[in-house]
Amino acid sequence: MKPLSAEAEQRACVVVGEGLAGMVAARRLQQLGVSATVLEKGDVEGGLGNTVISGGIVHVAWLPPDAAVEAKRDRLLAETDGEIGPELADAFAQMSSHVIPWLVAEGVRMRAKTAGPATRWTFWPFRSGDGRRLHPELGPGQAMSALYANFRRSGGTIVLGARANSLEPVAGGRWRVGYGTGDGPRSLLADCVLLADGGFQGNQEMLSRYVGPNAGLCLLRAATGGTGDGLRLLLGVGAGAVGLGRVYGHLVSATALESDELWPFPHLDELCLKGALVSRRGDLFPVTVDSPEGLVTRLARTEDPRGFAAIFDEGLWAEAAHQHTLGIPVANPGLVERGGHLCASPTIDGLAAALGMAERGLAAAVDAHNCEPGSVPIKTPPYRAVRVLPGITFTMGGARIGPDAGVRGPDGRAISGLYAAGSTAGGVNGGPRGGYVGGLAAAATFGYIAGGSMAAHVAVPISRPGQGRQP
Ligand SMILES: Cc1cc2nc3c(=O)[nH]c(=O)nc-3n(C[C@H](O)[C@H](O)[C@H](O)COP(=O)(O)OP(=O)(O)OC[C@H]3O[C@@H](n4cnc5c(N)ncnc54)[C@H](O)[C@@H]3O)c2cc1C
Repeated sequence: MKPLSAEAEQRACVVVGEGLAGMVAARRLQQLGVSATVLEKGDVEGGLGNTVISGGIVHVAWLPPDAAVEAKRDRLLAETDGEIGPELADAFAQMSSHVIPWLVAEGVRMRAKTAGPATRWTFWPFRSGDGRRLHPELGPGQAMSALYANFRRSGGTIVLGARANSLEPVAGGRWRVGYGTGDGPRSLLADCVLLADGGFQGNQEMLSRYVGPNAGLCLLRAATGGTGDGLRLLLGVGAGAVGLGRVYGHLVSATALESDELWPFPHLDELCLKGALVSRRGDLFPVTVDSPEGLVTRLARTEDPRGFAAIFDEGLWAEAAHQHTLGIPVANPGLVERGGHLCASPTIDGLAAALGMAERGLAAAVDAHNCEPGSVPIKTPPYRAVRVLPGITFTMGGARIGPDAGVRGPDGRAISGLYAAGSTAGGVNGGPRGGYVGGLAAAATFGYIAGGSMAAHVAVPISRPGQGRQP
């Protein structure tokens, strides 16, 4: 990219959200000679976002970001059943190759967590869950601290306690971003704005509108900061939306509602996918074609997301003690050690009594499960049951973007000057099975792309009144 003119350097870029997507974009802008102001609603750096409490595994559809571009592209299309589309898949596959060297050059420390390719690039020291507790000494916190420090050292401004709450087009193709602070409302005029505020999993009203009427009853397996402001603002100025009904998450112990010891791990996905998942009434919930993400979305859409239990036998419980390929804490014995509910009985009727279910209903559900082709039969006592809960980590859907991270209208037309990345952007994760292609890699890659696109945007000469880029 050509060096920017003095005029371009004075142009204003605003980034909403200081998570991974926002900070990669802000740093990238700086490196390209454009200054940016970051607005962050939290009072503590990183404290309200998902990045700092994540497991720190940076993967692209379970491949390391430095895998061959073609392989990543194929996996992105396969995991999402094509929903990502060739343009976004190409952009993600190609530009994610830059992410690891770029992060390392920023001083972010990464190591292989297990022998598997998916964890080759994991923020070091590893964080393996701890609810919302902040651990600045662990990899995800350290990674973000490096980006904050670099940004500030290069003259960048992060306004903490600043919640973006309005967005309106103004003359000359610019945007006014309104935000609330402890000292009252403020606004900034910007040539371009990146919305990177991390999804809407923390907004019960939006969950019930877009995912299911009772989706707010799921566990928020996430930080509290993702309240969907960015998506709401973008929809208000004509952005399109993609995949709003899907979430990424895991099945956790129902006891996680009362104890932060039980989320994000151990998750109970395998017990639910291979055992019999039954409703409060004892009905078998069909799971045969599900991935964990697809299952969480389907449970979130039910009438009674808090009413499910996984039924399994001693064989499956023994399997739950095997080391996990991602190196995360396992259910056996983690569930019990952390105080999670688990009941056992030598008979299915005894299990029904312990769960407060009708004996005949549970026995019929187990029989139906055992008769399903390819099922793992429940046959070896003691029989066990755990009350489970769908835990929502982030919303997969969001604002429609193009391969330049620019926001698109419902018809696909670009809305000049507006960008979205990370969990604010839709169409990256998703598809009919709720395919998961990565949260951190998507945030870093589309943040990186957005930084480049915004720098290119401000490099265009400022238009005269009446001739500006129209939103
Ligand atoms: C427990 C857990 C484990 C995870 N593990 C992994 C993993 O190992 N690998 C992986 O790929 N993904 C993982 N993820 C997902 C990953 O963390 C997210 O997908 C990613 O961090 C999203 O980054 P982001 O920048 O979009 O959002 P965030 O990091 O959530 O940042 C958004 C920021 O915007 C701020 N904000 C919100 N609203 C406003 C507003 N109106 N104005 C100003 N600021 C605002 C928030 O306070 C926050 O700081 C995990 C998530 C969780 C919760």
